[in-house]
Amino acid sequence: MEKIKINDLPNQSLFQKGKKNPMYGKVDELSPSWKGDDAGYQAIHLWVRNNKPKVTHCEKCNCTKKLEISNISGKNKRDIKDYEWLCIPCHRNKDNKKGFIGKVTKKIMGEIRSKYKKGNVFQRDLADQYGLNQSTISRILNKKRSRYI
Ligand SMILES: [Zn+2]
Repeated sequence: MEKIKINDLPNQSLFQKGKKNPMYGKVDELSPSWKGDDAGYQAIHLWVRNNKPKVTHCEKCNCTKKLEISNISGKNKRDIKDYEWLCIPCHRNKDNKKGFIGKVTKKIMGEIRSKYKKGNVFQRDLADQYGLNQSTISRILNKKRSRYI
């Protein structure tokens, strides 16, 4: 494995601490609008980028290409343990394998279907639970799904 100096990394600025970091001050400005787990996807990713310890290699293939934050559970939790640094090819590959359709993963679709099968649960309860529209739930249950929700 070829070693690359940290200064050669294109996204190094993201990891700089303090005033030298172009993101300095910007995160604090976002804080008042921070709504915990309901915070927008973009805000969460920004927060993860600023809080997750830096790595120099893709956590999957160990390459030193430009790295992206990748969500592990598919639920976009505000938890740095739920994210990993992946190079772009590994990130796309993982999302395809997981079957991301919009925000919903195949795993979540499976959960929704099995909960519904067990009974005692309405489609609108599932919608609330997963933060989805009832029509989305109904499409998941009917397996009438296109690539996008
Ligand atoms: Zn990779």
